[in-house]
Amino acid sequence: MDWLLLLKCMAITVSGGIFIYWVPSLILDALYYKQRQHEPELWKVQPDRWAPKRLVKEERRLGTLNMVTVSMVSGVLYYHVKTGGFSMLYFDVAQYGWVYTILSTVVFFIVGDFSLYWAHRWMHRKGLYKFVHRFHHRYRTPSAFTAIASHPFETLTFQAITLAPIFLVPLHPGGVIAVLLYQHSVSLIDHSGIRFGMVLPWQGPAAFHDDHHTYFHVNFAQTIHWWDHLFGTWRSEELSYGEESFVEDQSEHSHASRLSYAAGPIKARSLARLEKKRKRRSQPESQSTPVVSLETSS
Ligand SMILES: [Zn+2]
Ligand SMILES: [Zn+2]
Repeated sequence: MDWLLLLKCMAITVSGGIFIYWVPSLILDALYYKQRQHEPELWKVQPDRWAPKRLVKEERRLGTLNMVTVSMVSGVLYYHVKTGGFSMLYFDVAQYGWVYTILSTVVFFIVGDFSLYWAHRWMHRKGLYKFVHRFHHRYRTPSAFTAIASHPFETLTFQAITLAPIFLVPLHPGGVIAVLLYQHSVSLIDHSGIRFGMVLPWQGPAAFHDDHHTYFHVNFAQTIHWWDHLFGTWRSEELSYGEESFVEDQSEHSHASRLSYAAGPIKARSLARLEKKRKRRSQPESQSTPVVSLETSS
């Protein structure tokens, strides 16, 4: 056992993990939560709700703890592969060719995302929700820092599901790292609380996962939001949701019509409250329109 090499591997993965968690989250925080704090109706998914400082601090601490934990596990894996331990990773593209390398990376992403959808639904079963996943749902107005602010058991489970294929099918590490970075970026954006729209057709806008934090047992997808369409867990305006209305209790769920996120993801109740505030603030003015314009922008 080369302890120095193990330490080096872990130093690389932990510092990388902290960097990709803190730097983009701080940038989003500075650009929106600090600089544009006075105009939340123009960018915030939940413009009239702000996370209490206590929870903001807590999610940063919990997220950092989880990032350090999963990065240490990744460091051990890195050491294991570097020292010739068993995995199905191959480093020379010529061994399987470009077509296989690209296709296997795409399949790795799709199968992984499908598994994460079901793992997330599993976390929403009564027992697991109460003792494990509820920690992540403490943050009802999520920010980028919320992305990995979960119970460590959940974070490690999701990591195991994501990385299991590297022991089962031949995969190129470049493809694996690209998929992991992509999933991480999507997770930061989805939790940001900022009204980012759909960039790629299979991804929902940030409001899609933000609704998961507001309505609990809906919109489970991590990246490919079609899974919720397919398995009847897409949020519907016809149904009422709450922390106690678990998906397995809603038998009619799959038949309800689905909310259209393309029309503009601002929350209806938030919109009504904002409208009231706006009227109170600008009594003599009749021309102010930002709230109305939000309804049609995406
Ligand atoms: Zn959840
Ligand atoms: Zn979440």
